[in-house]
Amino acid sequence: MKQPICGAPTQSGKRCQNKAVIGTSRCSKHQGALSAYGVQQRKKKEAEAKMKKIRKKR
Ligand SMILES: [Zn+2]
Repeated sequence: MKQPICGAPTQSGKRCQNKAVIGTSRCSKHQGALSAYGVQQRKKKEAEAKMKKIRKKR
């Protein structure tokens, strides 16, 4: 399988040439909070944390 290139904009104004991680559209460097993948993962974690809090309270 061919890995796609990350293509995230970098600070120098160029596109990231790193290979994207399989299953995502960004490389490991750009899987941060700004990427769709990062946001998705963070939301998932937040939702899980909320669920745990609610469970603990009850
Ligand atoms: Zn990248």
